[in-house]
Amino acid sequence: MQALLATRRALVTGGGRGIGAAIARKFAEAGAHVTICGRTPREIDVVAAEIGGVAVVADLTDRASTDRMLAEVRAAGAIDVLVNNAGVAESASLDRTDDAMWDRIMELDATAPFRITRALAPAMIAAKWGRIINIASNAGVSGYGYTAAYCAAKHAMVGMTRGLAIDLARTGITINALCPGWVETAMSDDAVARIAQKTGRSVDEARASLANMSPQRRMITTAEVAHAALMLCADDARGIHGQTIVIDGGAILK
Ligand code: NAP
Repeated sequence: MQALLATRRALVTGGGRGIGAAIARKFAEAGAHVTICGRTPREIDVVAAEIGGVAVVADLTDRASTDRMLAEVRAAGAIDVLVNNAGVAESASLDRTDDAMWDRIMELDATAPFRITRALAPAMIAAKWGRIINIASNAGVSGYGYTAAYCAAKHAMVGMTRGLAIDLARTGITINALCPGWVETAMSDDAVARIAQKTGRSVDEARASLANMSPQRRMITTAEVAHAALMLCADDARGIHGQTIVIDGGAILK
């Protein structure tokens, strides 16, 4: 039987570590040729070498850098599967959320995914097949303290997913958002360190406070998010379109 993504070309933004690296590895195992991008060459080069893919250095908060990455990717061939994964989750109280922080988060977590989608969708439309997977967050469907900018950006990503789902419905492309709760990555490690530093709790206690937000009393693994991303790539997943798929052990229900 042919591998699920044999002959497919994928772009995973932020593929050098965490969720993006797990998706890049999963897609490569499923036969895809995978390009990853990020700012840190030593991270993306290692993952790209491991999976026989391509690494492109890009800072997605810089539109010229994003456009150079897109030109390089497109010159190598059409992308069939786009995973908008690169993101940042800075947190601050309202009075400490300055314009620069707001703009940085909106640019990376909402505007860049939109611009990359706009650039790569035409080739998918021409091919009459495509998958766009936005890695949002349960902060894209719910509110959390000290994260107004992050919540706003992830809600924007979910809104873009729903809006474009209507525009793209008859093209052969599906677009969906995956909305994980806390996932075991460098991003949640940073949050744990911040909580420990600000509250005086131990690192283990801080980590438990995040895990306990889920009724399953645990964080999600990167493998679980990668599994959902691959599932969306199946031809038989073509009816799953415009959805926000929450992967958080039920935390959103509380
Ligand atoms: P992570 O380990 O910090 O990885 C983030 C990735 O994004 C890295 O590869 C990073 O590479 C890249 N990135 C960051 N800033 C960038 C920029 N300006 N330009 C290009 N690439 C950039 O985070 P993660 O936990 O895997 O998060 C991945 C996605 O999942 C994010 O969108 C995040 O919001 C979402 N998410 C995470 C969690 C969680 O608990 N971890 C929960 C829900 C949703 P460089 O730093 O080298 O650029």
